[in-house]
Amino acid sequence: MTFDNSPELKMILNTMREFVREEIIPLERFFLNHDFETLLPLLEEKRQKAKGLGLWLPQIPSAYGGMGLSLLEHGFVSEVLGQSPLGHYVFNCQAPDAGNMEILIEYGTAEQQDLFLKPLLAGQTRSCFSMTEPENPGSNPTWMSSTAVRDRDEYVIEGHKWFTTAADGAAFAIVMAVTNPQAARHQRASMIIVPTDTAGFRIVENTSVMGERGQGFASHSEIRYEQCRVPVDNLLGEEGAGFVIAQQRLGPGRIHHCMRWIGICERAFDLMCRQAVLREVAPGRTLASQQTVQNWVVESRAEINGARLMVLDAAQKIDRLGTYAARDEISLIKFHVAGVLQQVLDRAIQVHGAMGMTDELPLAYWFRHERAARIYDGPDEVHKRSVARRIFARY
Ligand SMILES: Cc1cc2nc3c(=O)[nH]c(=O)nc-3n(C[C@H](O)[C@H](O)[C@H](O)COP(=O)(O)OP(=O)(O)OC[C@H]3O[C@@H](n4cnc5c(N)ncnc54)[C@H](O)[C@@H]3O)c2cc1C
Repeated sequence: MTFDNSPELKMILNTMREFVREEIIPLERFFLNHDFETLLPLLEEKRQKAKGLGLWLPQIPSAYGGMGLSLLEHGFVSEVLGQSPLGHYVFNCQAPDAGNMEILIEYGTAEQQDLFLKPLLAGQTRSCFSMTEPENPGSNPTWMSSTAVRDRDEYVIEGHKWFTTAADGAAFAIVMAVTNPQAARHQRASMIIVPTDTAGFRIVENTSVMGERGQGFASHSEIRYEQCRVPVDNLLGEEGAGFVIAQQRLGPGRIHHCMRWIGICERAFDLMCRQAVLREVAPGRTLASQQTVQNWVVESRAEINGARLMVLDAAQKIDRLGTYAARDEISLIKFHVAGVLQQVLDRAIQVHGAMGMTDELPLAYWFRHERAARIYDGPDEVHKRSVARRIFARY
């Protein structure tokens, strides 16, 4: 297994590493203390700077103004950017926009690309992805209540969604709704683009998550679609293809998430080691001299190294053979890396003592919000069940 980087990619990664360290990490204190008013103009400045350096849209093909990196290469980038909760946003490769860009490129009509994709790629707008419903299990996305009924040249959408990440301030939502209730289970729902200023699109509230309602791109909204009418031209792909497109959106997305989590692990690891060698528990005796802390550090190192290789291997397999061929690897990394992340963050907080619970460092933020890593994009148990079934089928 080789993951050698080209000299060009090495240069890109070095520039990004420095950018994250010098330009982005200093802004974290505004984010962690919810000062979005100060943060947003500063982030915009950094976005312009990233664009100027040619480091914009790393995951997008060059024909669409991106850097045209392969999935494996973007994995390395995602690892670097993941070291700050603001990293991906500055380079315009944050979820859920990154996934929406991908499906608009793949399935969007020329008109949809002009209206919705281009401003998104330029960083002038944000978007959201509205699939999960409070009344139905998100882990079974073939079962949903939201409907889109055709009325001449319009769809009329009725539905109730929640956990629509980044809906607050988004220009449009890509909504999953049932258009073909009589079809087979996997062919009932479609994806429809709904501009958020459409009558009948209503954000009920940003749901409070681990004590925070969040704001803008860092929030999760409950939404009502009430007699919400959009032109049939806003259908993305074919009618009934919603599930297939969602699956396609999730494959590479899981690589992005996993490498972002590896980046978080690396930052947590770095903070943990710095604290261990600096903090004295008695004069001249540092935390690093304690065997328990030594164990936490080396166990974390082994777990991060192993998880990283698994993700890179999965990314390489997707690049070479496609998402379907790599479905086992994708499921394995999804639950495994999420577990490693939780473990490493927990140890890093413990080493910092009370400091670990503060918002001076991003550890507590990640500990609260990345707990969700074991739930979104398929809960642990669903991934484990899928792989187990395929393993047992071979016996
Ligand atoms: C921070 C965050 C951001 C999110 N962002 C978005 C977004 O932008 N857009 C969007 O549409 N959705 C989003 N979601 C929703 C997410 O996709 C769902 O939470 C996820 O699919 C699980 O669905 P559920 O919450 O309804 O849990 P359920 O489906 O009710 O499952 C609950 C639990 O049951 C267990 N379980 C489920 N199925 C099985 C099974 N087959 N075998 C064994 N155990 C099982 C699992 O432990 C699971 O955690 C987000 C969620 C979070 C937490």
